Amino acid sequence: MAADTIDSATRNGDLARSGLNADALRRGVLDNLTCLQARSPAIATPHDWYMALAYSVRDRMLARWEATIQTYVASELRVACYLSAEFLIGPQLGNNLVNLGIEANARAAMQALGQDLDALLAIEEEPGLGNGGLGRLAACYLDSLATLEIPSVGYGIRYEFGIFDQQIRDGCQVEVTDKWLQKGNPWEIVRPNVAYYVAFGGQTQCATDAEGRLRVQWTPARMVKGVACDTPMLGYRVNTCNTLRLWKSEAVESFDLQDFNAGDYYEAVQEKVISETLSKVLYPNDEPEAGKRLRLAQQYFFVSCSLQDMLRLLDLKGEPIARFADMFTVQLNDTHPSIAVAELMRLLVDVRLLPWDEAWEITRNALSYTNHTLLPEALETWGLPLFRSLLPRPLEIIYEINRRFLEEIRQRYPGDDASVARMSMIDETGDKKLRMAHLSTVGCRAVNGVAELHSALLKETVLRDFAQLWPERFHNVTNGVTPRRFMLLSNPGLARLLDETVGDGWVTDLTRLRKLDAYADDPAFLEKWRAVKRANKQLLSERIRDVTNIVVNPDALFDIQVKRIHEYKRQHLNALYIITLYQRLRRNADQGAAPRCFIFGGKAAPGYAMAKLMIRLITGIAEVVNNDPAMEGRLKVVFFPDFNVKNAQFIYPAADLSEQISTAGKEASGTGNMKFMMNGAITIGTLDGANVEIREEAGDENFFLFGLTAEQVEHVTHDGYRPAQYADNNAELRETLNLIADGYFSRGDKQVFRPLVENLLQSDPFLVLADYTDYVTCQERVSAAWQDPARWTRMSVLNTARSGKFSSDRAISEYCERIWKISPVRIDLDRS
Ligand SMILES: *Cc1c(COP(=O)(O)O)cnc(C)c1O
Repeated sequence: MAADTIDSATRNGDLARSGLNADALRRGVLDNLTCLQARSPAIATPHDWYMALAYSVRDRMLARWEATIQTYVASELRVACYLSAEFLIGPQLGNNLVNLGIEANARAAMQALGQDLDALLAIEEEPGLGNGGLGRLAACYLDSLATLEIPSVGYGIRYEFGIFDQQIRDGCQVEVTDKWLQKGNPWEIVRPNVAYYVAFGGQTQCATDAEGRLRVQWTPARMVKGVACDTPMLGYRVNTCNTLRLWKSEAVESFDLQDFNAGDYYEAVQEKVISETLSKVLYPNDEPEAGKRLRLAQQYFFVSCSLQDMLRLLDLKGEPIARFADMFTVQLNDTHPSIAVAELMRLLVDVRLLPWDEAWEITRNALSYTNHTLLPEALETWGLPLFRSLLPRPLEIIYEINRRFLEEIRQRYPGDDASVARMSMIDETGDKKLRMAHLSTVGCRAVNGVAELHSALLKETVLRDFAQLWPERFHNVTNGVTPRRFMLLSNPGLARLLDETVGDGWVTDLTRLRKLDAYADDPAFLEKWRAVKRANKQLLSERIRDVTNIVVNPDALFDIQVKRIHEYKRQHLNALYIITLYQRLRRNADQGAAPRCFIFGGKAAPGYAMAKLMIRLITGIAEVVNNDPAMEGRLKVVFFPDFNVKNAQFIYPAADLSEQISTAGKEASGTGNMKFMMNGAITIGTLDGANVEIREEAGDENFFLFGLTAEQVEHVTHDGYRPAQYADNNAELRETLNLIADGYFSRGDKQVFRPLVENLLQSDPFLVLADYTDYVTCQERVSAAWQDPARWTRMSVLNTARSGKFSSDRAISEYCERIWKISPVRIDLDRS
């Protein structure tokens, strides 16, 4: 280290907190280690060093964070508020280093302290505050919002226990509690002075106020306090550092003992327990929502805190309540925050005493809704008795919104009771239920789907009546993912090659990758491209060996399907192909087959028996195939446990083939498909979700297409689908199903997979058997392409080259222009 650097550093004490060079970082780490954590370097554990580095990186974000907050409070600019029950943000240290541009300096600083940066990065706990795609989308959007300098806040729930950790024991998924906060979270700032109260239960009463107006009084059974926990979300090489504000629940601090008799003391303690339970645990997807009172309480809790926070900011800005929708544009990530429609009305009418019509105008103008699913079982509804007992006043408001809305419908379609029943917010067939998608559609200014196909189907199916009524309200914004995390951070080898080839501007303008088209036939370039992929596969192979003890060959075709385990995503279709291929290889009947390594990853909802069985099938196949000496060098099957963002960062860059094989019409968009594409994997997929657009961009010749279209799926389903016929007409499929049924992949146990085989032969709701033959043929084309390395590499390059559309920067720009009407604001660090 140069003497003058040390001199100036000593003169300027602040440098240890803000300086970006390696020496300032080194001193910052030592400062934090000794003064904040009270550890001496001599006894510091790797985790201590990780924490010290994380605090030192956070220190370097604070000036930007403060300047960003001050700018938003002081000026009358509009703020986009992204409400989501999930934010799957992944580890923060690496991303913050990359966005600050100090990764190399941090590496040098830690080396000077005898520490390896990569080892420290590996220590960070994953904040698993989401299930999968929807939560990861919210996180990618926060990265793009900050990078594009859009004034914005993310609002959600600070779950004490995120999505469970998955272990595989005896081939089965075992759920383990995710104690991500156990060793502390250096990125979070708790703000006890930013807190709001949220009411639950009790009764409502009508009363006349001093001015003679009729007012509704809600006397709740209990109050829960929500405290803000903030995480800085720094943009890439900009000053904008936005806030992710997650609410944690606390008991209302002192219950006044004088208000209670002795018996009620225990009641009061019980109330405290309930309040503290509220933000404890994230609910896994794909489980019946019915009866999950706590889940509804979580939704209302975070939505109410967030809206109250916006009202407070409006007051701080000195803006009148009538300007709410000018100051805030609120995006609802699926229906999970849809109670915002009723809660904003309640805050405006009951608390701010606005007339109903004025409040409705504000609410409708402020809110927008993103739909994420067409699957009927995933459309959110709540039984009326449960809803009423927990949220009596919001329910009254929903009734009133519905009453006025249906009045409009009756005027527009006189005598058409069927339309009224279909569009009502209350489903009256059977036990009465609230339809949250209807509440969102009526209460929001804009509704969007997440890929072209999905947005079109949305207008034809679940929201058809509404699309006819208000066509101008419907939009499409195709999802995107951040190239900072999923390319620059997780695929540094590729990033370097791209920098060299097209310049480093691709990181914030991904369409510049188009320039790679010119290199797709350049042998020297293709050689470098293959070397990058080979190194990534080598790295993943080592992790696979460490975690599963399975040794894979990095020169085999890495055929990867990672995503939540679900019947509609059809991991079992992939499994059927593997068995078929295995049989062909055993009889040497598939000479053209490429050596393959099939890699799976994904969690199943704890209560979703069929999904768990699908995991067992995959691990069962892996056990047989990997122990068959005849398969050495030809076929391997891996189930990589605990698929999360941290693991994903090693997996996507190592893929040759991306499995996107959902039943057409069922996957709203997918975002994993985009991450694979950016990293040069070629997709084998159906015309579903964003696959359609991926193929459009990549070109038909650079995409392996198979399967029924969404329209054909509809027809087959309606015309009396007989899955068993497909098995009768295809000897290989029959043999494959028989092997499973005979216990070949369950150590002779014929019972284990019976439900799965019977389901496929008898109902097969996701048309696995109908698509099997075409899938197998398509996989043969994949093998043929692999045999020609120049051709394969060309396809790989062209996939990355044409992935520009799938940057979340493009998606966020579209939200800003079409839906939010909001523009970037440069953050000035020298304001003060
Ligand atoms: C991207 C991502 C997903 C979504 O994957 P799909 O293939 O779109 O379902 C799920 N989980 C994690 C950890 C991800 O990074």
